Amino acid sequence: LETNEILGSGIVEKIGMKGSCLKHMRADGQKILLEGEVLEHQTAIEYILGVLTSKRHGALKSLEEIDAVGHRVVHGGEKFNKSVLITDEVIRKIEECIDIAPLHNPPNLSGIHAIEELLPSVPQVAVFDTAFHQTMPKVSYIYPLPYNLYNKYKIRRYGFHGTSHRYVAEQAAVKLGKPLSRCNLITCHLGNGCSVTAIQNGISIDTSMGFTPLEGLMMGTRSGDIDPYIVLYLMEKEDLAIDEVNSLLNKQSGLLGVSGISNDIRLIWDEANKGNDQAKLASEIFIYRLKKYIGSYLAVLGRVDAIVFTAGIGENDEIIREKSLADMENFGIIVDKNKNTELNRQEGEISTPESKVKVYIIPTNEELAIARDTKTIVENHRT
Ligand code: AMP
Repeated sequence: LETNEILGSGIVEKIGMKGSCLKHMRADGQKILLEGEVLEHQTAIEYILGVLTSKRHGALKSLEEIDAVGHRVVHGGEKFNKSVLITDEVIRKIEECIDIAPLHNPPNLSGIHAIEELLPSVPQVAVFDTAFHQTMPKVSYIYPLPYNLYNKYKIRRYGFHGTSHRYVAEQAAVKLGKPLSRCNLITCHLGNGCSVTAIQNGISIDTSMGFTPLEGLMMGTRSGDIDPYIVLYLMEKEDLAIDEVNSLLNKQSGLLGVSGISNDIRLIWDEANKGNDQAKLASEIFIYRLKKYIGSYLAVLGRVDAIVFTAGIGENDEIIREKSLADMENFGIIVDKNKNTELNRQEGEISTPESKVKVYIIPTNEELAIARDTKTIVENHRT
């Protein structure tokens, strides 16, 4: 029997830092929090396997019930345009991408090596955050920089959140009642990290994140698009080192930076409603920049079947959805305010019947997408 049933879900947080812990939720809703030092990823995976099979908290009788393991791998560079079975060669290629994803690919590889050691006979699959965007044409992925920098360092736009954009696009196609290969979509993944993707005939032709996840929309703590000269100016004026600029742009900017309050939009609304001007401004910039990206992708695509909102903010924040699509009747986009409020936090259509462009809330499910890819690839490999 095949189901999409979740037997358990969880996370190990703050690996290698103070306060690391494992959170685990069983199918029956029982929640478990285990605190303890988790210094590295190998230990984290041992911890997870232990909890999964524990008599008290577990979801599995034994590790033998695990047929395959799927990994989210952040950067596949130009080497991967789809999910793959992990082999020594695949590991080598993921290693070759460390240069362009120094914070993400090493822990992803640690996870893969840990499973290799702990479950040596279990096949593993890598699902890349960049893969879905490998269909972008050169005109959208080459930066207007000296061309040799692309050849020399592979500096280009890659895009991220690909698994999420692909998943919600597939769901949107089902709602539209036609094959994904005939759908033009704008998918907005608005979580702590935010990106928008233009999908033409089912494939990604442009997305707002670039060489790194810093480009594009304003995010929780990332600036998104800024004039690159600001970096040079600040380095000189404030005598900043590279890691300080990195922290400024990635961790201290965005909603947090402008509001001075939080990266969490809920806390920003709370303060804005109390009359805090900076909080109000942060929300307005977020909406304005999102609207500009949506508008630019409308122009790029020409015909759009649907706009999709997903992830923490996209699924839960009715104001962001309503305002980012306000006054766009001339583009064929009309959000039904009542439906938008009623359906908050649920899946469904929030546009009016007259709206030429459908607007959907579709909760993302990257874990399910990874599980499906893993199952398909492992089964194909067996046959
Ligand atoms: P994600 O990265 O998808 O987990 O999204 C995290 C972000 O979603 C948080 O920083 C919040 O800004 C936002 N978020 C989560 N839940 C809600 C909610 N109920 N209402 C509004 N925003 C939310």
